[in-house]
Amino acid sequence: MEFQRILFRTNKHNRYSITALVGAILSRIDIDVIESKSISDILQYPVEGTVVAYSFMSFDIDIVKVEVQELKKHGYIIIAGGPHATALPQETLKIGFDYVFTGDGEENIVRFLLGERPENRIFDGISKRINLDEYPAICEKKKLFMPLEISRGCPFNCGYCQTPRLAGKIVRHRSIEQIVEYEKISVKYGKTIARFITPNAFGYGSKNGVTPNLEAIDELLYKVKATGVTEIYFGTFPSDVRPESVTDEVLKIIKKYVNHDYIVIGAQSGSNRILEKIQRGHTVEKVEEALEILAQNGFYAKVDFIFGFPFETKEDVEETFKFIEKIVKKYNAKIHAHTFMPLPGTPLWNVGPGILKNYHYKFLGTLASQGILDGYWTKQEELARKVVSQKIE
Ligand code: SF4
Repeated sequence: MEFQRILFRTNKHNRYSITALVGAILSRIDIDVIESKSISDILQYPVEGTVVAYSFMSFDIDIVKVEVQELKKHGYIIIAGGPHATALPQETLKIGFDYVFTGDGEENIVRFLLGERPENRIFDGISKRINLDEYPAICEKKKLFMPLEISRGCPFNCGYCQTPRLAGKIVRHRSIEQIVEYEKISVKYGKTIARFITPNAFGYGSKNGVTPNLEAIDELLYKVKATGVTEIYFGTFPSDVRPESVTDEVLKIIKKYVNHDYIVIGAQSGSNRILEKIQRGHTVEKVEEALEILAQNGFYAKVDFIFGFPFETKEDVEETFKFIEKIVKKYNAKIHAHTFMPLPGTPLWNVGPGILKNYHYKFLGTLASQGILDGYWTKQEELARKVVSQKIE
């Protein structure tokens, strides 16, 4: 084999995807897999026999560019995958990467390490998707135990989100048998809190990824519980729930197993005009309906909202503020606020960065000081500007 080692450049945004890739590689190939937290760490390894792998978000592009230049000076082979590389493969090659991986990376990174080299230097993981059951969700050899990815892909097309392009529009589910197997291994190593990665937790096992498959969810949680886990989180970070997937039946099922009394719901706006423009596929009324069903079942909601869309009017924002005030009062909702970031490959890529006005700061700041609201909305305003300023034409 050409390489003796593969170094993954880790940061706080890519832990989950790197775990999946490390697990995939070590399930097929005998090679040194090393996680490097910094470029100086990478530079300690010889150029000969080393490939350096990046998986990064668009807002990390400035740091990545600088590091790639430095690594190329030394002569390293460098590869890239993840949301940014999937959205802009040619541009990612131009930065200096030798090969780019779009979409699902597991099968293609193995092929690369075994010597496959596509002429256009782009490994296509979009038209050829993997079966989740063929690749591990954790890496026992490296003791990497992340929340288990139970579903991948999303049938929606929210204008700001890279997931449908990165993970595909067809939802694929990992089998219950496999999830339980990985949970058992995790428990063996003392990891007894079960968390899951999925674009919509209540869509697990569902053909369309939206209508809850009650039997599948019940069986999944029952069997996960039986592995000896002490706590189960389902419908909370790092997964959330679509409002239309919240039903009385599904809540009655999960209530038997979970250790939380809230569910994370994506609402994104209190204005139907904005919901339509960002292609959310649901209305404000649907969000309220979900909160009502949650309340009837003893759950409250942590609700995601995005602010600062360049096309949002003061009236849209006022409607959202009013809706927030209503759901905080009526349903005891907590708010998770984001600032819009235009990401490459998404329908809203070209509309400009999210901008917060004084009235946003005033309203969001007040709720934050009352402990009702959290989120990285101020940081994201900076990141939104950064992403746009780094656009490669
Ligand atoms: S925001 Fe959620 S529902 Fe919308 S496209 Fe992304 S993953 Fe799917």
